[in-house]
Amino acid sequence: MKPGRSSHEGVMKPRNVDYEIAPESVELRRSSTLNGEKRAVASHTAVHELLECPVCMDVMYPPINQCPNGHTLCSKCQSKLRSCPICRQALGNIRCLALERVAESLEMPCKYQIMGCQDIFPYHSRLRHERNCLFRPYNCPYAGAECPVTGEIPFLLAHLKSHHKVDVHDGSTFNHRYVKTNPQDVDNATWMLTVFNCYGYQFCLHFEAFNIGSAPVYMAFIRFMGDDRDSRKFRYSLEVGGSGRKLTWQGIPRSIRDTHVKVRESMDGLIIQRSMALFFSGGNGQELRLRIGGRIWKEQA
Ligand SMILES: [Zn+2]
Ligand SMILES: [Zn+2]
Ligand SMILES: [Zn+2]
Ligand SMILES: [Zn+2]
Repeated sequence: MKPGRSSHEGVMKPRNVDYEIAPESVELRRSSTLNGEKRAVASHTAVHELLECPVCMDVMYPPINQCPNGHTLCSKCQSKLRSCPICRQALGNIRCLALERVAESLEMPCKYQIMGCQDIFPYHSRLRHERNCLFRPYNCPYAGAECPVTGEIPFLLAHLKSHHKVDVHDGSTFNHRYVKTNPQDVDNATWMLTVFNCYGYQFCLHFEAFNIGSAPVYMAFIRFMGDDRDSRKFRYSLEVGGSGRKLTWQGIPRSIRDTHVKVRESMDGLIIQRSMALFFSGGNGQELRLRIGGRIWKEQA
């Protein structure tokens, strides 16, 4: 449910109290099909209005419900309400099959049209498309407390800087130092994120501490602020070492469409056992001091 749209149980204030649809507002056009049959096609805007749920204002998809007086509403809103928001009659479980048929027959633009998607779909494939639409907003890539913010990349970049205080560096090579006192305490809470700005894109370097079974490990990996197709044009390497030893990793940045948890669970990154990390840190194991170097480059096509 979108902000500002109440989802609480009770009587809601419908946007359009006069819910009757004037017959002349449904403009009918005649078009012939291949077999010569005539069929009436209601104009898109009027049908759109017809399919708008009066409570949440989203487009209604089957199952579409109606009150005993025929006021329609979407199944999500129906499940939250006891009485019709228009006439206050008790809501039963009455479907509106005619409107469902209209909804199913209608081709509609993807809901991310305003973000640039040009695709138009019949009902079922539209829902499938929207779950994977390239124009759908991205989730905030910050890995600490799961952040609910979504948006386009420039917006998320500004959000990372201002809200999460993430450092953004220009350049495709880096040398980053992670220092943690009391490294015995791997509490799944060490999440660090730095953003690198290069090749006109942004890359997120994650550093996380977690347990695999009972074995504490550190993991570093890079995610790409963009979609999967663009991420595959890049490669990155990471290395960490000390006392004459070195671990290196080369990978493909993962799109931020994949959550950091998914990347971590697939172990698609540089994994450092804690004993090795402490060895690289030198000292007496009281402090974790890792220097992670790396580079991002464009793979030649
Ligand atoms: Zn609704
Ligand atoms: Zn009603
Ligand atoms: Zn789309
Ligand atoms: Zn965020």
